[in-house]
Amino acid sequence: MRVIDILNSSKATLFSFELLPPLKGHNIDTIFSTIDKLIPFYPAYINITYHREEVVYLTNEYGVQTPVKVRRRPGTVGLAAAIQQRYGIDVVPHIICGGFDAHETEDALIDLDFLGIQNVLVVRGDADKITGRFDPKPGGHRYAVDLVKQVKNLNRGIYLEKLIEQPKPTGFCIGVAGYPEKHPESPNQESDIHYLKQKVSAGASYIVTQMFFDNRLYFNFVERCRNAGIHVPIIPGLKPISVKEHINLLPRVFDVHIPQPLVLEVEKCKTNAQVAQLGIEWAVEQSKELKNAGVPAIHFYTMGKADNIAKIAERVF
Ligand code: FAD
Repeated sequence: MRVIDILNSSKATLFSFELLPPLKGHNIDTIFSTIDKLIPFYPAYINITYHREEVVYLTNEYGVQTPVKVRRRPGTVGLAAAIQQRYGIDVVPHIICGGFDAHETEDALIDLDFLGIQNVLVVRGDADKITGRFDPKPGGHRYAVDLVKQVKNLNRGIYLEKLIEQPKPTGFCIGVAGYPEKHPESPNQESDIHYLKQKVSAGASYIVTQMFFDNRLYFNFVERCRNAGIHVPIIPGLKPISVKEHINLLPRVFDVHIPQPLVLEVEKCKTNAQVAQLGIEWAVEQSKELKNAGVPAIHFYTMGKADNIAKIAERVF
């Protein structure tokens, strides 16, 4: 089922979460055991992220540096299909601009279509960690909006290969990313919303937000989107803090703010178990307020950890 139809057919706030494919060399069982812990809370759908490899530079004995690809997480398409088949829950694989040309993306979309997967979350992918720049692969897309247009074209039966007789349209429901605090590369919030609106006009049916720790940021973002003429569902994304390092790491990696009352409480914690409990309490409060406000779904960034999400879900859904 398409995510937009799932959202439209429910009056209650739905529960969803996202998973990372295992690192290369690890197997699928860890993913299944994560899902098993969250199944009791009836996830409406499950997202599976896509990650480009990271590059590290190894220095040899002569001081020469060589780039080496590490931390690969292949398998998003296979994992999505395996989850949908095993649990009968709709899946939302992420597809990204970075690292692919448009023909490779088209082939991946054809695979997803053949596997009976009707949803994709379209994102650009992160900028290079070393240069800070995002460079598409030659023949690839620079912005998520261009990838949205490609998927939308496929939904109309317009393939990149022109000489296909009676091309069959696909039926993907497209989600895109939105940033309550603005995307880090964006010059200002207005510009960011302007380009978000382009993604919706190009064919996105809903938006999932970057994590935030203060609901006022989400409510304000929704209001700004509505004022700008964006009327699709905006699903809040939450990430419970679980270790002390998160109060510095999450702002650095995702360019998000952590409210001072939460920082002060984290600093008082003597163990990470205490931090995890605090993260649960904070996320429960955020979730309850969002639910009371009638949000369509709450989306949890698991980052491979299910126990804290399960504790939140049992108190909220
Ligand atoms: P875009 O929408 O392309 O925007 C990128 C920047 O360019 C923004 O500053 C925007 O304002 C600006 N912009 C957009 N269009 C234009 C234009 N036409 N002209 C000028 N400026 C423009 N990363 C992964 O690698 N894998 C994942 O699976 C993944 N999943 C994610 C899921 C969610 C819900 C979120 C919030 C993020 C996810 N990310 C993922 C991270 C994402 O790839 C990064 O945040 C990335 O830097 C931006 O992606 P985007 O799709 O928002 O990009």
